Amino acid sequence: MKINEKRLEERMNRINSIAVTAESGMMRLALTDADKEARDLIVSWLEEAGMEVKIDDMGSVYGILKGTNPDAKPICVGSHADTQPNGGKYDGLFGVMAGLEAIISIKESGKRVESSLILVDWTNEEGARFVPPMLASGVVSGKFDSQWVYDKEDVDGIRYEDELIRIGYKGQKENRLKGIKAYFEPHIEQGPVLDAEGKNFGVVTGALGITGLDVTIKGEANHAGTTPMSHRKDPAAAAAEAISAIRQNCIDFGDPAVLTVGVINARPASKNIVPGEVYFSVDLRYHTDEGMTELEEQTKQIIMEICSKYIVSVDIARYWRADPASFNESIISCVEDAARENNMNYIRIISGAGHDAVFINEVMPTGMLFVPSIKGMSHCPQEDTRWEDIVKGVEITADVLLKLDKADV
Ligand SMILES: [Zn+2]
Repeated sequence: MKINEKRLEERMNRINSIAVTAESGMMRLALTDADKEARDLIVSWLEEAGMEVKIDDMGSVYGILKGTNPDAKPICVGSHADTQPNGGKYDGLFGVMAGLEAIISIKESGKRVESSLILVDWTNEEGARFVPPMLASGVVSGKFDSQWVYDKEDVDGIRYEDELIRIGYKGQKENRLKGIKAYFEPHIEQGPVLDAEGKNFGVVTGALGITGLDVTIKGEANHAGTTPMSHRKDPAAAAAEAISAIRQNCIDFGDPAVLTVGVINARPASKNIVPGEVYFSVDLRYHTDEGMTELEEQTKQIIMEICSKYIVSVDIARYWRADPASFNESIISCVEDAARENNMNYIRIISGAGHDAVFINEVMPTGMLFVPSIKGMSHCPQEDTRWEDIVKGVEITADVLLKLDKADV
């Protein structure tokens, strides 16, 4: 379905001109003045389109276009307008503006839509100001308690709830998203796959699960000069071999498995002491429950075997597990049909990143689409998507909403 490309461009540029860094990055951290300015604009556009505006107790903004059938469950579309510090111009905002422009274009086309169409802008998706990410969708999906979120503080000790009140976006609990037929989130890929494979569209089938491990290896701290190599119990040597072995194991496990060691610390951290203890983190991700458990077991086994070879002890604790997400099959079909009818060069793809859609998927039928990120860059000023891919993504968003209205989800 054709959309108003000029309006889309003007409105995106308007929001992306609010808080621009010296490197041309975006700086709309959640619940700051810049976030408020973006929200105010979105609300004004919703009102201009004759949509009813509601705010929930977490500050998420909803705009509702009434459907023709009061008994039909609503369909929700959207994403988040907050950014990382010095972030990109499309992460999050694309989904909000795609949803908004799609709903308005459907209204202007005069097409009969039975379901009410709801646009959502989720609060604090990025987790850049208030940790962890996806706080508002986490409350809606029952993952987080609202008081726990209210008490979250930024680095300056400023509370989430106080900022919500300050910018005038503390709404009511009864306005939270519920009872919908489908939630649909358009997003940029934030990875290199579509661009590298020359595809212009991604039908998202789910998201990788995440397992986080804390690995602590204990050996014997000793003098770096007087301790011969044969007499050492060196946790750094064990860690080095373990990290390289679990990485190779992940590669052998095959796509889409990924494994990251993001933190390494040695104690006592002196340049002339064989360390007594080494800590490293492991973040591993996979798209099936079974596979993720298997990869976790293999990873632990490899670490333990290497540690016993080095005569050091090891403690491995799991600090985090998020189950892999599989999106709703009917919604995936609607997205795939819309891609085919628009002659897109598409593939089915699994998201490696977390999104509000991953939380919402646990309680409501959910789906996503990806537009390509040039060179896979994201969370930085270089983040970019070809304009024709943005426009196509919005047109397909409108087509998906119309298909969902007719579909049995
Ligand atoms: Zn995002």
